[in-house]
Amino acid sequence: MAGSRKATENPTRLTPDTPASVLGGVGPRKAAVLKKAGYETIGDFLRGYPRTYEDRRNIVTIDALKPGIPAVFTGKILSVSAGGFYAAGRRRPLTAIAGDQTGAVEIVFFNAKYLDRIFVQGAAFRFFGVPTLNKGRIQLAHPDFERLEDSGAGMPQSADGLAETSVASHPIMPVYPLSAGLSQKEMRKWHDAALAAADGVVECLPESVLAVHRLCGISYALENVHFPADREALSAARYRLIFEELFMLRAGLLTLKKRRGDRGDGIAFDTTPGIKDFAALLPFMLTGAQNRVIETVYRNMEQDVPMNRLVQGDVGSGKTAIAMAAAFKAAVSGYQTAMMAPTEILARQHYGNLSAIFGEDRIRIAFLASSTGRAERREIIARLASGAIDLLIGTHALLQPDVIFARLGLVITDEQHRFGVEQRIGLAQKGKAPDILVMTATPIPRTLAAILYGDLDMSIIDEMPPGRQKIITKPASPGQRESVYRFVRKELDKGRQAYVVAPLIEESEEGAPETGLQSAEALFEALSKIFVGKTVSLLHGGMTQVEKERAMMLFRDGETDLLVCTVIVEVGVDVPNATVMVVENAERFGLSQLHQLRGRVGRGIHQSWCILISEPGSKEAKARIEAMANTDDGMVIAEKDLELRGPGEIFGVRQHGLPELKLADLARHGRILEAAGAAAENLVAADPLLKQTAHRTLKERLDALFSSGIKAAM
Ligand code: ADP
Ligand code: MG
Repeated sequence: MAGSRKATENPTRLTPDTPASVLGGVGPRKAAVLKKAGYETIGDFLRGYPRTYEDRRNIVTIDALKPGIPAVFTGKILSVSAGGFYAAGRRRPLTAIAGDQTGAVEIVFFNAKYLDRIFVQGAAFRFFGVPTLNKGRIQLAHPDFERLEDSGAGMPQSADGLAETSVASHPIMPVYPLSAGLSQKEMRKWHDAALAAADGVVECLPESVLAVHRLCGISYALENVHFPADREALSAARYRLIFEELFMLRAGLLTLKKRRGDRGDGIAFDTTPGIKDFAALLPFMLTGAQNRVIETVYRNMEQDVPMNRLVQGDVGSGKTAIAMAAAFKAAVSGYQTAMMAPTEILARQHYGNLSAIFGEDRIRIAFLASSTGRAERREIIARLASGAIDLLIGTHALLQPDVIFARLGLVITDEQHRFGVEQRIGLAQKGKAPDILVMTATPIPRTLAAILYGDLDMSIIDEMPPGRQKIITKPASPGQRESVYRFVRKELDKGRQAYVVAPLIEESEEGAPETGLQSAEALFEALSKIFVGKTVSLLHGGMTQVEKERAMMLFRDGETDLLVCTVIVEVGVDVPNATVMVVENAERFGLSQLHQLRGRVGRGIHQSWCILISEPGSKEAKARIEAMANTDDGMVIAEKDLELRGPGEIFGVRQHGLPELKLADLARHGRILEAAGAAAENLVAADPLLKQTAHRTLKERLDALFSSGIKAAM
């Protein structure tokens, strides 16, 4: 292919930085569409990998399609019953019949509005997909497709110059993810043209790593991941690129850890108070697991090596007590603590709890969020800078530059999975090598933990406080709402409280009536009428801070019986008297999110329930709801979530400030992860700051991949 490619019309010498607009057929309009899809430069095309491949060596006729066997075939559209809407306002699937000389087959697309104009009668397509059997007939749902020029015989001509140019001859064709306004044909052509720049891509993996792990070079990998010469070349290319992604992630995090310094420059906190002094302040007995983790934390704190510890414990396992213990020791030792939570509701809850435990005279506590009034904020900042505050609890507001501590000794982030690495480090930089304690309820499969928190030591709280009962989880259909509500009322009559969670805030979002999605506001209206004699209130992110706070306070104090809300209550909220969690449109939530929501109940001594209302929808949604009903083990759920959705979605890898994983799948590539991880470890052990010339391009690539804030911290 190289020969034909480089002979194409464009004489400009391409480099990865060349803007995409130099490609043939990319005018201002296409450029805008491409930009939206993430392609701005030639380099974006090089690193914009195919979603899958179409193996043209398996072209079949329609009569030979078999359920479950991937196939490529061509066909003309004989008829279309195009999109449009059902009465309820829901989009009707687009159904087309495609035929060749041997037969016809049904092609279906759900929810793909832009296809209405593409699938027109008489148009010819090449399809690629896995046929299924539907009511005895062969069908293809959401096949990949490429429009062919109508030239009668079936073999496409190059009529618009876009069609079958040099790329047509490949036995294995890339299939790129498309968005509205882009066709497979264009994408192939542009990727092919962009590959002219592949030779100019700098090899970022050190020679030694390539040799030891028998990896192919970067230009070969890029050429073959897009237009593989054969299956073997494709595997070699993919292996190398996956290896590279995982290697970069691990190496980046490791150098981060190394640069933070090892021993001697941290704070050695006082050896008193001990755990007994702290436990005496609590209204309950610490569990064995809490005791163990606090012991470890105290030992870390007493040494002059900076602590970097992740505390992982399932929802309701009592992580707050660990934070309290650490803050207590820091305060008694004369150091300040910053404690950051991802939502104001949660931060306020911590502020309330810690104030109640410590009392103002023992530890001086303050609260800071973006809603804090100006005058109050000014006062807090002044007191903080003079050392008159021991413990500052708040939200992202703590990160603002003018929040300056006199003697910051300890940094705590709660629900760490909601923050980026960058933010954790940003807060720590407000002190001189402070100890760091991060807490997360999202259990992280080991493989992922090594990546995301590779620079942290880990403690696990694997025991629940005594007296907890298993939460009973039940799926329900929308038709069963009435009986769900009857059940909720019975619980309220017993003096308990309940949550009802909706995916949207208000009706107008995402066209709620059409999509069948519930909104908190509409539900609040409806439930206020249904639950006569009970106090129903509303809580969502669109309300003002004062309104939110008031709603949360009333619910905490038991003044409100039923709280209709959005996922704003997802993390951390702790109201032990609440025993029912009803989730509307449960199919819309990810597993870990459902597990977090369920974790809002079952936090006291009463039997609790989680009711998941959902339309009997997609297979995936069903699998999720079943998984929820079958287990309450956060780790099992996390593994399952990883399998169903992939790590990118769960952990918002981007949000963590980490480079995106495009090909690597942590759920599936455990072996490569191990090899790449070990390679990165060896390399960083030998050259911690990547100063050797052989590691120069590696360091450059890491600097480019990791976001600016992390770089600064490095
Ligand atoms: P999470 O791990 O989800 O942050 P919390 O720290 O909010 O959990 O604790 C959940 C609930 O359990 C709180 O009401 C807390 O007071 C209570 N709790 C924590 N530890 C214990 C314990 N050892 N014994 C009894 N109750 C506890
Ligand atoms: Mg918590």
